Amino acid sequence: MTDGVSGLAAPEALEFEVPRVAGSGIDGLTPAPDMSRSEHFEMVRAGRLGSIHSWELVTAVDGPGSRMTLFLAGCPLRCLYCHNPDTMKMKDGEPVTLEAVMARVFRYERIFAASGGGLTISGGEPLMQPAFVANILAEAKKRGIHTAIDTSGYLGAAIGDDDLDNLDLVLLDVKSGLPDTYRALTGRDLQPTIDFGDRLAALGKAVWLRFVLVPGHTDAPENIDAIAAIVRRWPNVERLEVLPFHQMGRDKWESIGAVYELDDVEPPSNETTEAVRQRFRDLGIPTVY
Ligand code: SF4
Repeated sequence: MTDGVSGLAAPEALEFEVPRVAGSGIDGLTPAPDMSRSEHFEMVRAGRLGSIHSWELVTAVDGPGSRMTLFLAGCPLRCLYCHNPDTMKMKDGEPVTLEAVMARVFRYERIFAASGGGLTISGGEPLMQPAFVANILAEAKKRGIHTAIDTSGYLGAAIGDDDLDNLDLVLLDVKSGLPDTYRALTGRDLQPTIDFGDRLAALGKAVWLRFVLVPGHTDAPENIDAIAAIVRRWPNVERLEVLPFHQMGRDKWESIGAVYELDDVEPPSNETTEAVRQRFRDLGIPTVY
């Protein structure tokens, strides 16, 4: 999920420095060897080959501790505020094998262990490639690595309960609590995300929610109230992050020749963002950042 959240979470004390490799593409991940179309198809079907946009090492974002965040290519949503619209199409990613991904993940095991961190699979939308994600999670779990996915939940039905067993944390984007607002913002329906959240709640899976505050689009009081009404049903939610919209993704829309519709939207003030956080607290959501 490239909704502008990276780098905006409250910084925590760093136990040690890890290099940030933002926007590094797949440097450090060995590209898949040439193969026939049928081999390619079979590898994808088996979840042994994925389409990857990039990866980076981060601290205090995308989950606890220091993490390797892997951005998969492809997303069924078209969020107006998408921070990385170049992740939307799966065909724009690079083919990388499961083995190559895991080789890179395992290089950071000591950092993960020392920092309480791990692996986060983001995108795009990771659940566009459910078999690949399932295999990555299984391989990471075999080594005891903490795992997270960063998802809109729109494709939550694509991941099975057995695969969720290999997942420690879900970073779930609640883009709106109102179906019409959700559709206007993303081009898709809200209900699959609610269904996925209900399922995660039934399983008792740890969830961190993220909500991007976009003036004129998601900041209506009835939208905040609707989100709170949904979230209150989920006792497994450990935190809700309210993230102020920013304009850092604007140039990427231009660079891929796409129309960016939020050119005139100003980021919310600190006071506005804090007022929304307080509204969530008043509505019974205890851990709001
Ligand atoms: S869900 Fe897809 S379109 Fe929306 S912000 Fe994330 S990557 Fe961009």
